[in-house]
Amino acid sequence: MICLRCDAAWPVETYAAGCPRCASEGHASNLKLIYAGQGRGIRLPEALSLGEGGTPSVELSALAQTMKLGRLTAKLEWCNPTGSHKDRMSARLIARALSCNVPLVVAASSGNGGLSIAAYSAHAGLPTEIALTAAVAQSYRRAMVAHGARLIEAPDSLGRWEHLARRVAEGAFAATNYRLPAIGTDPFGIEGYKTLAAELAGLDRPDVVIVPSSRGDLLSGLRLGFEEIGGVMPRLVAVEPFPRLARVMAGEDYRSRFEGHTAQVSTAGETVTFQALAALRASSGLSVPVDDMAARRAQATLAACGLHAELSAAAALTALDEIARDGRLAGRHVTLVLTGSGLRDPGAHDPASWPHTDERPHAATPPAMSGFQPPRTEASVQQRDNG
Ligand SMILES: [Zn+2]
Repeated sequence: MICLRCDAAWPVETYAAGCPRCASEGHASNLKLIYAGQGRGIRLPEALSLGEGGTPSVELSALAQTMKLGRLTAKLEWCNPTGSHKDRMSARLIARALSCNVPLVVAASSGNGGLSIAAYSAHAGLPTEIALTAAVAQSYRRAMVAHGARLIEAPDSLGRWEHLARRVAEGAFAATNYRLPAIGTDPFGIEGYKTLAAELAGLDRPDVVIVPSSRGDLLSGLRLGFEEIGGVMPRLVAVEPFPRLARVMAGEDYRSRFEGHTAQVSTAGETVTFQALAALRASSGLSVPVDDMAARRAQATLAACGLHAELSAAAALTALDEIARDGRLAGRHVTLVLTGSGLRDPGAHDPASWPHTDERPHAATPPAMSGFQPPRTEASVQQRDNG
């Protein structure tokens, strides 16, 4: 395994704090897997696959014409078995957990990630605990419980991570980030996203790939995948609900906390990771913040084309509109990674749809909010992080 930040090599292990050398210097960097000799790639136990990957790629010709692009495609990641891109990661992650003979898989989730981990753990016969806040919609909870997962209610996002840390100390396998500064998911999980890079490279390789992003697992997996495949690296564009990675690209420390509030639940949270920064640097990429109002307009535009994407995924279209406006993408092929379906977005009366923050609630200073603003009480100021 090799550090993404300092290139130090380490034996294959689970490194809770990421690269040990970087951790000793106060940094937090994920590792990547490297392969020796023949037979590159990790053999996945066949029984662990639920049929993830191979998702449809849809042409959006009219939008391409309007935006003066050569070609615009949408990758429908909601066609994965549990309805999001996370399944690509879960297949690898749970295979790794199984090979480590762990007694328990634990994850902190705002919906998609936890549901995916619960399904793949059930398939592998591994007990699972998913730590949630009150913000997670009932539809997710019912599905997780149906897969046999035990749900742990945490008072806030950080409470979920504290629960995971306790379980990891007892020998559990963490299927999501639980550290501050954030590192990202175990490198074995990130491997799963290389399959998306392979699928994109296999069809007329896009010049630009637009990726909803928070802790950057998908972004990093795409970068590592394209590097492994070789050839021209597409420009990776991260989409985020408020400036986090954009501020880091402008010079701020990736270990900072970035306050913001959003209804884009799948990409919420106030942290970024070194792996996300490294992916943008390696691909000459950039990060585009898209607020909730703009994301809702994009959601409506995509829906009018027949694609009902979750809010955080629809935001990719707004990001494209912003970077294509000056004509610099004329004639280029752009792919939007639509990570999840709009059916998953909680309804207006569901507490999970209310703008939230990772901050602990504070009665005197309600947070500033952008976009949709339903009535709320103090208890509705939700804290969570993606997963
Ligand atoms: Zn390092």
